[in-house]
Amino acid sequence: MSSASKYATQDILYDEAIRFLKTVTADSKCYACGCDVWEVASDGNDSRNVLLVPTNTSFNGKLSRSLLLVCKTCGLERQHRDHKIIEWLTANPPESVDCTDD
Ligand SMILES: [Zn+2]
Repeated sequence: MSSASKYATQDILYDEAIRFLKTVTADSKCYACGCDVWEVASDGNDSRNVLLVPTNTSFNGKLSRSLLLVCKTCGLERQHRDHKIIEWLTANPPESVDCTDD
């Protein structure tokens, strides 16, 4: 637990990660098999938060982590960097979701 601070960002709630994915990557299909059903990896313990996998690369001097998705059909993996998800969630808080009246 002593090394937690080297990571740039906080945990991401599962529901918030899903909101990000459904909004920002709504039309994403698996580029291997064409399936559009993805499973979000979890650590099996605290189901409120998504599992963020350390990438061993840094962003703004802090190690970044990735949200891992797995294609339900073929198992292909894709990853989204945590700082981009948090950046989007910060700019698009839950209260603004219904305001899509452009
Ligand atoms: Zn697939």
